[in-house]
Amino acid sequence: MFTEASLEPTEPGLRWRCVKLEPGTTLRGLLCGKMKPLECHWVNESSKPCRSKITGGRLTCYCQQEPHSLRTIGYVPIETRDREQLVVIVPKTTALTIKTFVQGDALEFMRGKRDKSPTRVRTILPEEIGAQRHKVVAAEQPREISRYLLHLWGDLALQKHFEGPQDPIPSSGPNLLRQPRKQPNAKASATQKPNHPVVNALLGAIGQPPSKQ
Ligand SMILES: [Zn+2]
Repeated sequence: MFTEASLEPTEPGLRWRCVKLEPGTTLRGLLCGKMKPLECHWVNESSKPCRSKITGGRLTCYCQQEPHSLRTIGYVPIETRDREQLVVIVPKTTALTIKTFVQGDALEFMRGKRDKSPTRVRTILPEEIGAQRHKVVAAEQPREISRYLLHLWGDLALQKHFEGPQDPIPSSGPNLLRQPRKQPNAKASATQKPNHPVVNALLGAIGQPPSKQ
């Protein structure tokens, strides 16, 4: 009788949880997608990507008006033993290590007890998470976290840029429209003359077949 509401938590692409390790803790999981290394600002107690850097300069960022510190961090998608999907935030040095790992690798993240200890990573034996599951994840397509990250950051300018039907910026760029025109015109002026009616008449007089046939 009723059309019932879905009790699924969220759409599949958004079923992730972002994690920053607490000092003195560890976390294990299988690498289940490609890490996203991004240059981020620290805004309102969280990391948000620089609008300019993440769009290759197509969006202007607030850091162009007032200075913000910029640091590279990695967003690493993993699946835990309980099959929870997590995105782990790591510093640049750790991101460099993760770049050498492949889909399905069993990872252990750890952080020292001191407040400023960085999150580090090492590979462990697949059996420590689940050999069977390791095989499944290793064989599957890398899972995509971009949509989740856009949702996580909550930056409307970025959402509009990446989720809009079309990127409006390149098509409105004046340089794209003007530059190609000048050169063809310059060449055209040299090649257009023979098409001039007077020239055509002269060519006809020289012995070219008459245009009326
Ligand atoms: Zn910026």
